[in-house]
Amino acid sequence: MTMDASASSQLEQLRDAIAKCLASAWPGGISTAEVADHLPNLWREVVASGQPTIGHPDSGFGIHAAIVAAIAHGAAGSPAPIIPAIILNLACHASAPALVAAMHAGRVMPAVAYARYDGDVAAGAVSFAGGKVDGDVQFVEDAGHGSHFAIFVGDGLAIVERTARGVGVHATPGLVRPAFHRLRLQDAPAELVRLDHAQLSDLALTARLLYAARASGAARTAFSLAAEHAATRKQFGKFLAQFQAMQHKLANCEIALRGSEELLRHAAKLQDAEDGDWRLFAEAAIAFSSSHLRQTSIETHHALGAIGYAEEHDAPGHFRRVHGDLCRMGGVMRARRALFAAVRSRPGEALPGIWLGARAEGFRQEVRRWLGAHWGDAARIAENRKPEAARGLNPDFCQRLAEAGLLSASWPAAFGGEDRSFREQLALNEELEGARAPYSLAVCISWILAPLVIRHGHDALKASILPRARRGEIVAALGYSEPEAGSDLSSLKTRAVRDGDDYVISGQKLWGTLTDKATHILVAARTDPEAQPRRDGISLFVVPANLPGITIQPHMAFYGHSFCTQYYDEVRVPASSRLGDENGGWALLAEALASERIFMGGKVRKLALIFDKIVAHLSERDESADAAHLGALVADLLAARLFAVRSVLVLEEGRTPIVEGAIAKAFSGELAERLSETAIDIIGTGALLGSEVDGVPLGGLLEHELRTSLMMVIGGGAAEIQRSIIASQGLGLPR
Ligand SMILES: Cc1cc2nc3c(=O)[nH]c(=O)nc-3n(C[C@H](O)[C@H](O)[C@H](O)COP(=O)(O)OP(=O)(O)OC[C@H]3O[C@@H](n4cnc5c(N)ncnc54)[C@H](O)[C@@H]3O)c2cc1C
Repeated sequence: MTMDASASSQLEQLRDAIAKCLASAWPGGISTAEVADHLPNLWREVVASGQPTIGHPDSGFGIHAAIVAAIAHGAAGSPAPIIPAIILNLACHASAPALVAAMHAGRVMPAVAYARYDGDVAAGAVSFAGGKVDGDVQFVEDAGHGSHFAIFVGDGLAIVERTARGVGVHATPGLVRPAFHRLRLQDAPAELVRLDHAQLSDLALTARLLYAARASGAARTAFSLAAEHAATRKQFGKFLAQFQAMQHKLANCEIALRGSEELLRHAAKLQDAEDGDWRLFAEAAIAFSSSHLRQTSIETHHALGAIGYAEEHDAPGHFRRVHGDLCRMGGVMRARRALFAAVRSRPGEALPGIWLGARAEGFRQEVRRWLGAHWGDAARIAENRKPEAARGLNPDFCQRLAEAGLLSASWPAAFGGEDRSFREQLALNEELEGARAPYSLAVCISWILAPLVIRHGHDALKASILPRARRGEIVAALGYSEPEAGSDLSSLKTRAVRDGDDYVISGQKLWGTLTDKATHILVAARTDPEAQPRRDGISLFVVPANLPGITIQPHMAFYGHSFCTQYYDEVRVPASSRLGDENGGWALLAEALASERIFMGGKVRKLALIFDKIVAHLSERDESADAAHLGALVADLLAARLFAVRSVLVLEEGRTPIVEGAIAKAFSGELAERLSETAIDIIGTGALLGSEVDGVPLGGLLEHELRTSLMMVIGGGAAEIQRSIIASQGLGLPR
């Protein structure tokens, strides 16, 4: 998934060079009515900068570079025919080198008619026979100025000169500018570049991917205008961006834009690597962009108000481009159906994974082998027979994980771990979640508490916690939330007062997951009641759960496990149980949250496997599926996986993925809810029955997943809070 640094910087240079070229050759403010006057000059500049060679094997720039170029042209609102140029390079470099060379030299300005490969039956068709073409095609872009038309015909691409006899070119104005054209061809002379059906299909798919990329660039620019507007325009005495409705609207747009960019990049990288999954990811990128970016474009206009509604403003031009590029060639419905068909026909897991690199994938295989040996069908069935409150909480299984070193795999070797990278941890977590392994009792200690102790604990604490944690003897819980501190955690009131070598803790905590099973609780307490901001007065303590003064009152959470109220009545702990500096707890909470983000990837893998089961269920029963509906979910699931991987890559760069984590959390939680709701709609009443019922669809998984999905949105920071983080820290909007 990661690209080496030199390739990545080469692409950045390409992006910057194109942006610079377009900034001078296509300055803002040229109204679309004047395109005819300015396009020849624009094309000259684009040719001079070498861009029409992109996609040619000799250029060194493959599909990823082509995507970068299309995004840059979209961002600049450029009408230069860069996409037809890329298509010609890909299709004609071997069989029509003279044509391609003339295009590189600026003597050919190309336009492409996709005809039967357009995906829209109204696009028309053209036949080629005896060196001539006949037919009628529409929705042809760039034809107003194009010197040569490359037309998809049964046997390949027919190249027709604009000035040839029998060629009629007619503008069909509408939303898209410059307008689409209709080509009427009657015995028009043509050269055939022979290509088979598979090659033509791939070319058309690549073109659709490039149009989605161009739309993504346009949507990003329009969005930046809206964000800037919101940060500078005042209404009701405040900047618009200070209103939460506006912040969350813009945060949603940012999520959509990043999802589109992630999928586009991933599809392009796979295509460059000749990985057959590129087609599936291309359909996902198109499906995701087609719905989410059009909505972004609409939201952008809402945010700009009347200022953006004037044709002189750039926003209408970008709106036209986004809709033009995403509604064409079959648009969202074609992409969703194709995507669902693609996952349905895959052997094994329906949804492809994201390659995390040789090391992490090697470790994944080790974990799979281990799970194969220790978590077989019989164990799984026995676990499922347990009452819901005990399911997933299997101390014996956790013990075996500990003995295999899997609970401490990510810890430094100095503390008995294996120094596994963040990506390896993600792979481990994906496998455990994918196998529905009963490891919940181990999560908090192994992945949250122990790493904090290693980094910030006193030696005495390390000695008392880490060896036992490695042996699987510790169960930890998080004591953060309070009656008046949920989302606003910094207002927590539980006090920790220094008394000699001890601290004395008093207060009440709520909703501690599995605290009734815990040996230790990570308690966030106030050590400075005067501190401003309030978050600067918080410290973290590792508190044995059996100390005098602690009362734990379990409640049953809606998804079937306990979460507990805890009372701390003058609980005395040694100062060595504090993590990090006094009043330095807030930064550690952020660190702990970053560790939790690794679990997001595992949760998304679990969602993907639930989707697999839905697909299998539909196949078994031969029910006709709502392919477009399910295809939309596939696109979202793949975006969610890429978001989770992105958070982990940021961690590997040594940064805390605050914004990336917030995006992953907000998107995946709400996706979990959508997935369950959609599955229930498709499967029907049976989906509401529990796992104890014989013959229940999907083993009774769905009703439980529906209940669990609510927790994914609320727990660990509710979706609104994530959106506020995206708005303030990701977009820099004023509070
Ligand atoms: C199953 C489960 C397990 C949990 N486990 C633990 C645990 O182990 N340890 C622990 O400490 N806590 C735990 N929690 C608590 C969890 O962290 C909180 O539920 C979460 O932080 C939200 O706080 P709250 O429930 O008080 O909701 P509130 O903060 O009251 O929020 C309620 C609603 O108001 C919205 N809202 C709040 N503030 C704003 C705002 N400024 N702008 C817009 N909307 C806002 C929220 O988004 C939410 O939709 C758990 C919760 C659940 C459901």
